[in-house]
Parts: sequence; C-alpha cells; structure tokens
Amino acid sequence: MTLDLPLVARGKVREVYDAGADHLLLVASDRISAYDRVLPTPIPDKGRVLTQLSVWWFDQLTPVLASSGAAHHLLGADDVPAEVAGRAVLVRRLSMLPVECVARGYLSGSGTVEYRRTGSIRDVALPAGLVEGSRLPEPVFTPSTKAEAGEHDEAIDFAAVVDLVGADRAEELRELTLALYRRGAEIAEGAGIVLADTKFEFGLDADGRLTLGDEVLTPDSSRFWPAILWSPGAPQPSFDKQYVRDWLTSSGWDRVSPPPELPPHVVEATRERYVTAYERLTGTTFR
Ligand code: ATP
Ligand code: MG
Repeated sequence: MTLDLPLVARGKVREVYDAGADHLLLVASDRISAYDRVLPTPIPDKGRVLTQLSVWWFDQLTPVLASSGAAHHLLGADDVPAEVAGRAVLVRRLSMLPVECVARGYLSGSGTVEYRRTGSIRDVALPAGLVEGSRLPEPVFTPSTKAEAGEHDEAIDFAAVVDLVGADRAEELRELTLALYRRGAEIAEGAGIVLADTKFEFGLDADGRLTLGDEVLTPDSSRFWPAILWSPGAPQPSFDKQYVRDWLTSSGWDRVSPPPELPPHVVEATRERYVTAYERLTGTTFR
C-alpha cells in the first residue's frame, strides 16, 4: 500500500507519513513482530484494533495529562485517506524525546531476567522473593533507550535519562509515566485486566509543550493479563503477543533464521486475543 503522501519512516509495524507542516499520519498495519522481527504472517484486523484502542486510551488519559500541563498528540482518526480508514491517526508532529518511558506494576519478561541476576531493574531496587508475574509493592519507572531500527532497546538508569533530557525533564517523565500507568491500570482493573507494564513515548510540540505521542496502552506496547487467571510463578496467560512468542519458541525457531509462517489457528487465536482486549477495555463491540 502506498499513500499519496511523503513517507517519513517505516517501522516494523507502522508507517509514518508527512501530512503537512505540523502533522503526521501514523498508519498501523496488520504486521506483527516478535523478538524484534516481523513475522511473515499478518494478523487480520490488528491494525484497526490497535489504532482504535489507542484512540480510546488517549481520551481516557486526557485528564491525567492536563493535570500536569501536558497534552497528547492525537488530532483525529476520521479525516484520514479511505484506504487506511480505521487504522490511521492524524497527529501533531513532535520532536520525540530519546527515551522509552516504561512503567511496571508487575515483574515480567526482561524485568524478571534482570531481577533474577541482580535483584533490581537497573538502579531500581526491588524486594527479595519476587517471581515472574509478581505484583510490585509500587509501580516503578524503568526507562530504556529508543533503539535505532534493527537494534534492541536497552534498559537504562535514571541517571542516563537525566543525561539525555536534563534533570527536570527526567523527573517530569518519571512522574507522568507513573501517573498514566496508575490510571491505565485502574481502568484496566475495572475491566478484569491486569496492566502488568507498558511503554510510553513523549515529545515536545511546536510550543515546547510535553506531549504524549506514539500509540498508548495497546497489546503491542503493554502486557495485559486476564485478572481472574493471574497466578505469579510462571508466565501469565495474556491478551498480548506472548501467545505468539510462546508458539514461536515451541516451534523450535532459532530467532536467527527467517521467522516461520504462523499456522491459521495461531493467527485466529492471536486475533481473538487482541479483539478481546479491545472489547473488554472499551466495553464496546469491535467492528
Ligand atoms: P520499530 O517498531 O520497527 O521498532 P519504530 O518504533 O521506530 O520502529 P513505529 O513504532 O512503527 O516504528 O513508528 C512510529 C515512529 O513514530 C516511532 O519512531 C515514534 O517514536 C514516532 N512517533 C510517534 N508519534 C510521533 C509524533 N507525534 N511525532 C513524531 N514522531 C512520532
Ligand atoms: Mg515503535
């Protein structure tokens, strides 16, 4: 698919188009990535589900942003080219800050790996005795670098964030990330979903205002677990792509050679998870 707009960037999952001086068009595809690789099999409707979920969340999070003088980048999802309707958003163009703002309320994934080795996640000390899936005493800010295409994001200390954006901005990012996570987790909890962790990206708009960008609280940027099945000590059942990661592992893929095609039942089960997350969270039927 090519739109009649200048392409600014093509990520693993989304395309970014120039939509005029201060505007960008973010277009989500049905591509799915795992272990930093794009899989050869798309997941039908994924682009629309994630886009519409993100749009819903921006609205939910507006009061949290406003209470700290921040904004979000979303301008609209309606006035977009027909061929990408439902999976594209028009946004304010930002100067992105070079930090992935990760918040964790539960221990999982790379957090567990690092915790097992050091008892901490970078400079964030955690209590002893936690296991995969444990709830943390308090949500924590565990930032990472924004890796170049093909590279892997790396967890960094708070001091590294200070080096990247300055002390005041770093403090502001930590506070706002945790406030957004808390509100997101509260809303998700009401829908029977554990928001285990998530990643936000911020930038500065033309007036220098701190602005929440990218996509928010989607299954690509977050871990969502069905609350009723939460049971620490093993990987949790989830509404995100952990299912696909697990299938890839069980398929014997070495993570080096080209990733395998997903069989139809895995595609369908994955689509189902994304749609369920959307429907439970928003309380509406996905169309
Ligand atoms: P990949 O997904 O392959 O790792 P990526 O994260 O760069 O790469 P996408 O997430 O598909 O790719 O693309 C979105 C890009 O647009 C990201 O680099 C993100 O930081 C950037 N971005 C998001 N919102 C804005 C915005 N309002 N202004 C400018 N850039 C933005
Ligand atoms: Mg991205």
